[in-house]
Amino acid sequence: MPTSVVTGGAGFIGSHLCEYLLGKGDRVIAIDNLGSGSKDNIKGILNNASFTFIKHDVRKPLKVREKVDYVYNLASRASPVDFDRYPVEIMMTNSVGTYNAVNAALEHGARFLTASTSETYGDPDVSPQPETYWGHVNPVGPRSCYDESKRFSEALTMAFVRHQGLDGRIIRIFNTYGPRMRLDDGRVVPNFVTQALAGRPLTVYGDGSQTRSFCYVSDLVRGIYLMMHSPVKGQVVNLGNPREMTVLEFARTIIEKTGSSSAIDYRPLPENDPLQRRPDIRKAKELLGWEPEVGLDEGLESTIAWFKDSMSKKKEKKR
Ligand code: NAD
Ligand code: UDP
Repeated sequence: MPTSVVTGGAGFIGSHLCEYLLGKGDRVIAIDNLGSGSKDNIKGILNNASFTFIKHDVRKPLKVREKVDYVYNLASRASPVDFDRYPVEIMMTNSVGTYNAVNAALEHGARFLTASTSETYGDPDVSPQPETYWGHVNPVGPRSCYDESKRFSEALTMAFVRHQGLDGRIIRIFNTYGPRMRLDDGRVVPNFVTQALAGRPLTVYGDGSQTRSFCYVSDLVRGIYLMMHSPVKGQVVNLGNPREMTVLEFARTIIEKTGSSSAIDYRPLPENDPLQRRPDIRKAKELLGWEPEVGLDEGLESTIAWFKDSMSKKKEKKR
């Protein structure tokens, strides 16, 4: 039975990945400081004999006693709202945390995968964004704590691949959504869905003409697994859904899908908010045979149902 370590394993994507890996027959060790993640996300697997949760901050060295075969490095806050609140924590997690995760992989001779982001492309001036695009990032802007530390994590991974024999690979994740996003996470999907379900206005930043492409979490997790299990040492691959839409179109879709009568409340566009984002996924198709399968309608249906349930549980708790 192969053993996989997942840093950030109690987070949104990490918890889905842990479940998927258990389903594939792996022994799974999730490591998380529960900063933006939660034990609730892993409550369905906590009693699984093949699963272990370790509360640990990856900014400190990782010591895993049993033999490890795969290290998935997902630990990092990812919401732009947190870029203002926890910039240094984010930078140290993606730099020192990645360094510690790489070293854990090297110590065990394990394969390593790090979760980078479409944010490495910054506010891109080419679209869709291929992996060969070097990006357009403001190194001193309010998002730089995330963008630049993710870029550092990529550079660090490649340095270890080139000079220390690490069997490492990098994925650049584009906007991903699904059940278990935090209600108050601040990203567009939790904001719009909770606002629509509560009948409050949807907060569209700017005029809503900026674009994003939304990938459902099960598609992403399948891509992550394929990336880890393919001979792609030293490769960088985009994982995301190429269906691009404006944020305003997305707001209208959420209003329609929730059956809400919410209005739209235009707010200022945050500084350096990327104006367009769409993955070029040709490389993922060629190398991994991967492409998304879950359409927006289907993905939103289960996401909205999950948010509805979480909101009513939260209300009950307050009573
Ligand atoms: P998330 O906040 O739900 O998950 C991140 C997890 O990492 C949380 O459980 C958090 O507690 C944990 N964590 C953070 N700092 C840590 C530290 N120092 N030590 C230990 N654990 C720590 O966010 P997510 O959306 O699931 O993101 C997971 C990964 O995917 C992140 O690396 C993120 O940058 C990347 N990513 C996500 C998206 C997306 O659209 N969701 C897009 C691009 C990249
Ligand atoms: N956004 C918005 N209203 C919100 C939250 C986000 O209009 O309440 C916009 C945001 O400005 C960005 C897009 O939605 O253009 C996606 O934002 P998110 O925070 O989800 O992630 P990003 O893609 O910026 O990392």
